[in-house]
Amino acid sequence: MTVTTQPKPTSAMPDTAIYERRESAVRSYARAMPRQFNRAEGVWMHDNQGGRYLDFLSGCSTLNYGHNHPVLKDALVDYIASDGITHGLDLHTDAKGDFLAALEDVILTPRGLDYRAMFTGPTGTNAVEAAIKLARKITGRELVIAFTNGFHGMTLGALACTGNAAKRGGAGVPLSHVAHEPYDGYHGDGVDTADLLERRLSDPSSGLDAPAAILVETVQGEGGLNAASPQWLRRIAEIARRHGALMIVDDIQAGCGRTGNFFSFEGMGFTPDIVTMAKSLSGMGLPFALTLFRPELDQWAPGEHNGTFRGNNHAFVTATAALRHFWSDGTFQQDVARRGALLERRLDAMAAEHGLSTRGRGMMRGIDVGSGEVAQSITAACFAQGLIIETSGAHDEIVKVLAPLVIEDDLLSAGLDILEDSVRSAVSVTYGVAAE
Ligand SMILES: *Cc1c(COP(=O)(O)O)cnc(C)c1O
Repeated sequence: MTVTTQPKPTSAMPDTAIYERRESAVRSYARAMPRQFNRAEGVWMHDNQGGRYLDFLSGCSTLNYGHNHPVLKDALVDYIASDGITHGLDLHTDAKGDFLAALEDVILTPRGLDYRAMFTGPTGTNAVEAAIKLARKITGRELVIAFTNGFHGMTLGALACTGNAAKRGGAGVPLSHVAHEPYDGYHGDGVDTADLLERRLSDPSSGLDAPAAILVETVQGEGGLNAASPQWLRRIAEIARRHGALMIVDDIQAGCGRTGNFFSFEGMGFTPDIVTMAKSLSGMGLPFALTLFRPELDQWAPGEHNGTFRGNNHAFVTATAALRHFWSDGTFQQDVARRGALLERRLDAMAAEHGLSTRGRGMMRGIDVGSGEVAQSITAACFAQGLIIETSGAHDEIVKVLAPLVIEDDLLSAGLDILEDSVRSAVSVTYGVAAE
């Protein structure tokens, strides 16, 4: 096919003096993509010099439905034009009621799930804080078991559950009350890390306290796209139950269709006690986070976990539109499954060509290129050709593909062609493999 809308990056560097003068050094993505963006629609981002970029980052899986999806955008524009409530603390509003009804009709009831919804502050880390706080309150225990390479957010409680040393280092205080146990596959194929955890929890002299919760990602978004097997996750759910701990699935990145279904754990034969959602939940990139839990666990006193921005009415509107538009029947899921298979095939071929390996599940996959430097040279080469793509993993050694789930198959292929070329050149330069 001909891609009539090829990426067209600009090489013109915008004036970045204002950022250097006024914006904190903490900025990160902007350093790898030194352009000034001014418009985005669907899978495309545009810079203010006329450049066009195919977005394979999607706001780290916040834009699963692409940028400014017309159905979501129209719903929001209509809502604002009619003076709908923008901020209402946690008051009942039409927007909130409609969202809860859509969550019930479109997501929970068809899946036989019975969860209460808690609107936390609007970022993912707030949803994780609420989840672990609730687990500690209910069980009266302090310890949370998290996993190697897990990522759960930047506020102190969630950061304590995060593995990455550079991120943890920013805390400035001890990060405690969390044990980091080996994730599925951490010790290689021959070791079942669920066995190790069971053994430690069952041994009164292991030194591991009885946990309030076991907090897990089904696919580790920031930690290298490691995908846990359904058997391992089922074991973790059983272990949590047997030891009186609550199982929390952090579905902030893997949820909302990224791995194929609305929840990343669907069809695996277990039901988490608590689920955290954020990133693509609003559907349009608006801040919005949710903690779901079994009704019996709803032991909060009114206002016990508070926040000025609990719920975001604009996000309620776009999230409702997204649930009803994409999840009312199985069409979208079929499209995502097909694109996920295409992505898997293409990444497997790239890996086979260079003796590398792939990671992930559904539309959440990456290729392990062996080092952060190689990965960075690949993402830089992609950007120079108009493809926005980033890295993941303990050493940033995984090039991760987080294309919008709505991407046309031909554009997905076109972006993967750019990635394939960039991998080929970077790997041939670094490892001396002759490029074809
Ligand atoms: C992004 C992310 C978070 C944190 O969300 P923020 O909105 O950045 O606070 C937590 N858990 C996972 C799995 C994530 O990917």
